[in-house]
Amino acid sequence: MEATRTRTPQEIWETALGELQVQVSKPNYRTWFKKTVGLSYRDNQFIIGVPNTFAAEYLEKNQRSLIEKALIGLTSSGVQVVFQVNGKPHRYQGTGASETGFPAPSPTYTRLNPKYVFDSFVEGNSNRLARGASMAVAQNPGHSYNPLFIYGGAGLGKTHLLHAIGQAAAANHINVICTSAEQFTNEFVSALREKSTEEFRNKYRSIGMLLVDDIHFIGGKEQTSESFFHTFNELHNTNRQIVITSDCPPKSMPLLEERLRSRFEWGLIVDIQPPAFETRLAILHAKARQRGVNIDSDVLELIAREASGNIRVLEGSLNRVIAYAGLLGEAPTVDIAARALEDIANKGPIEDTITPDLIVEAVAKSFQLDKEELVGRKRDKNTALARRLAMFLIRQETNYSLSQIGQELGNRDAASVTTACKKISVDITASPYLKRKIRVIQRYLHPESGSKASR
Ligand code: ADP
Ligand code: MG
Repeated sequence: MEATRTRTPQEIWETALGELQVQVSKPNYRTWFKKTVGLSYRDNQFIIGVPNTFAAEYLEKNQRSLIEKALIGLTSSGVQVVFQVNGKPHRYQGTGASETGFPAPSPTYTRLNPKYVFDSFVEGNSNRLARGASMAVAQNPGHSYNPLFIYGGAGLGKTHLLHAIGQAAAANHINVICTSAEQFTNEFVSALREKSTEEFRNKYRSIGMLLVDDIHFIGGKEQTSESFFHTFNELHNTNRQIVITSDCPPKSMPLLEERLRSRFEWGLIVDIQPPAFETRLAILHAKARQRGVNIDSDVLELIAREASGNIRVLEGSLNRVIAYAGLLGEAPTVDIAARALEDIANKGPIEDTITPDLIVEAVAKSFQLDKEELVGRKRDKNTALARRLAMFLIRQETNYSLSQIGQELGNRDAASVTTACKKISVDITASPYLKRKIRVIQRYLHPESGSKASR
């Protein structure tokens, strides 16, 4: 990520679109997402421009939560999406909308990731102190440790704990703002531009708890740091809880202003370490349970042994093993897990390398065929279907032209690719079998989207 420049709403939205593109079908994407733009991002509100009310209504009803999930991942804190048509916010008539047509503001100003709660956070030696301190401030905000400063490497659960605190506090009717240093900076910069710094200050002054993710982002940004300094003081002086996360302790942040550093050191500083094997295993058990997948302890042990300390990566490995087994239509045994992990090690992140070859291989596996058979001359029903499906998926997943796709599949001509793709699009609506096949293959190609792909 670029640390030196603030991303524009359009840049954030483009990244989100990249993610959404793999989560919805291609026609769906083309119809509803393609002509949207990221207009602005302020006060946790992300405004998306859409071409017409029809599209606004569709997205509002069907895609809002998916969109917000994608944006949460990119902004590391909450967002509320507003669709806008011709410069006007779309007036949604369904439930959850307020009189103004904007979605009813949540009491926390912010959307916290509902999965990130204390209940789903597995305790281990590596995070015990951080978890305990987080629970203490959630239960007794402003009084135990203020500020609470949590630091640790990537994927160790900082954001998870921060959102868990926010959710526990919000349940006690505390007015929480959860933001990231990046978002705080964006907001501050646009407040400066729009001469609304007073409003900006008031908003932060009026809250009960402030959660700021990834504070290291603020380093070197003088004006934002100053504004944050004042916000911090006002809240701290009146015993309102502040929780901050960072990738390193205050003393190791070279660009942090001295006065902010000393304030961060007023409260409690806790770190999260990479989890040991036993904790990794416990986390895998919990994640498998959450996903409702039955998976042997042996298999989880294998994954836990191979994976690094980054829990995001650990979850990724689990998703891939499940997806790989799904592709083969078998239970995830140790043997299958080992093969899936080996595949990952050899290929790296699958998403970066979705090639026709990979798709052919996946389709062949799921139809119990050899690759050679798939691109060869066999014409039995099973092989012919697999071949059509491979063409269809390559068309969906890559930028290959029809004739290139034909070449990949044993030098067939473009016309037969067109026919195959058309036939699959038609058959798909009538055949649950075909739908299921496509789903397992897509889950294999996009394991990170995990359960989302199974909708
Ligand atoms: P960070 O903010 O430190 O980079 P995150 O909080 O985003 O890391 O965590 C990455 C992923 O790992 C998330 O999906 C989170 O739910 C999961 N995770 C991290 N720690 C734990 C834990 N102790 N128990 C369960 N899941 C965890
Ligand atoms: Mg984080």
